[in-house]
Amino acid sequence: MKYHLVVLGCQMNMSDSERVKSVIESMGFTHTDNEDEASLLGVLSCSVRQKPIDKVYNRIHVWNRQKNKRNIITFVSGCVLPDDREKFLKLFDFVFPMSELGEFPQMLREYGVASPLSLSQDRESTHNVEDVLSEVETKSKKQSLLNPLTKYSASKPVLPNNKDIFQLWNVKPQYQSEFEAYVPIQNGCDKFCSFCAVPYTRGREVSRPSAEIIDEVVQLMKNGYKSITLLGQNVNSYGLDRDEELSFAELLTEIGKAGDSLQNPSWVYFTSPHPRDMSRDVIEAIAKYPVLAKQIHLPLQSGDDKVLIKMNRKHNLDRYRESVADIRELIPQATLFTDIIVGFTGETEEQFMNTLQCFDEFQYNMAYIAMYSPRPGAQSYRWEDDIPQATKKDRLKRLSEKLEEISAAYNHRLLGKELQVLIRSTERKTGFLSGHTEGKLVTRIKSKDQSLIGKFVKVKITESADLSIAGELVTVLKDKRIPVSAD
Ligand code: SF4
Repeated sequence: MKYHLVVLGCQMNMSDSERVKSVIESMGFTHTDNEDEASLLGVLSCSVRQKPIDKVYNRIHVWNRQKNKRNIITFVSGCVLPDDREKFLKLFDFVFPMSELGEFPQMLREYGVASPLSLSQDRESTHNVEDVLSEVETKSKKQSLLNPLTKYSASKPVLPNNKDIFQLWNVKPQYQSEFEAYVPIQNGCDKFCSFCAVPYTRGREVSRPSAEIIDEVVQLMKNGYKSITLLGQNVNSYGLDRDEELSFAELLTEIGKAGDSLQNPSWVYFTSPHPRDMSRDVIEAIAKYPVLAKQIHLPLQSGDDKVLIKMNRKHNLDRYRESVADIRELIPQATLFTDIIVGFTGETEEQFMNTLQCFDEFQYNMAYIAMYSPRPGAQSYRWEDDIPQATKKDRLKRLSEKLEEISAAYNHRLLGKELQVLIRSTERKTGFLSGHTEGKLVTRIKSKDQSLIGKFVKVKITESADLSIAGELVTVLKDKRIPVSAD
């Protein structure tokens, strides 16, 4: 029996999908890219915009039409707003929060679904499920499992219960790459930015125990992973929700020490931090330990204090400025990335110009710039979206041009230098490979050698463009992979 999984949205959903696949495959299902041959069909939903939600409805209507012709079971999890959850309950066989993933095999059994393993009645194999869910607390919650409405009511919105998220983290992931991995360190968000629905879909912040995170990161380093990203909605408020836990800076320090003892085989990144919580000790840790990649993504969203207040961002420009000054002082080689929203409700031309000036001041290497669109479930959804689309487009264009100008000047200064690059894939243009530097600058290399994918190489930079660089292969760097110990 086969399963098909549609994963929408961000890196967090991609990371969650690695654990979803482990659980489903522990029941004996095998993955297929062809949904027509799957008997178990699932979606990890994203509520950030209407488009992915429309995709969920589109798929489930197609699948439900097929139910007349063949036996299929459907489920949806991931980021789901209370309103959509009510509607999904009428359309999908299973609707459950990601925190209850560990109970999915039990849900199927209680629903009367025979998994491939239960059909084969292979008792030994059945233990695989228990292995994967080794530390998962299995409880009988039939009522709540089959009727999540008992927990989430659309008429009286409540934040999703996030306390069982530990079950998800206890599942051993099936990493999708052999050299890049995401490690969840936290779930949910306490910041309640007015444009964002995440606190309503993922609930309040919950930090994963540091011992588990460090274990997972160390194993990935030992297994030869070159790029490891610590994931959370607000990574640098890590630990604040727990009485006795490391701070984010302390967590980075422990990972830094582990990197030192393993001869720094990887680049360890994190995303996303919040400017309010970007304390100097976090930046000191990144500066101190070679394994912590010298690339920082610090979302600004707007360069105007009044807009930041309206966005409920809980940081102002001066606070942001202090962090950038710390980064430039302690890690001068670090690249700086950001997120920006243009055309937020009420944004004046003058306020937009303040954001534009921030680009000159902070000299970003990359910025993910979005035109504001109201997100269902977010506080600002109720406000008038009063900036004309043409104005938003114009601001996006001017900001993108500014970014390209700054990035092009930075990239030009790299000409002639030799940089370490992680090769990630082939380029669309045949005869070229694509990768990135430690600072995540996109790098093109003239080579057809696909065996280099997943390896560190040294590249001499010979060309620079607005948002990328290109160069010639100098040498393949020694693979510092260390054999996995027996423990
Ligand atoms: S910090 Fe703001 S934008 Fe980021 S997840 Fe939390 S509410 Fe959303």
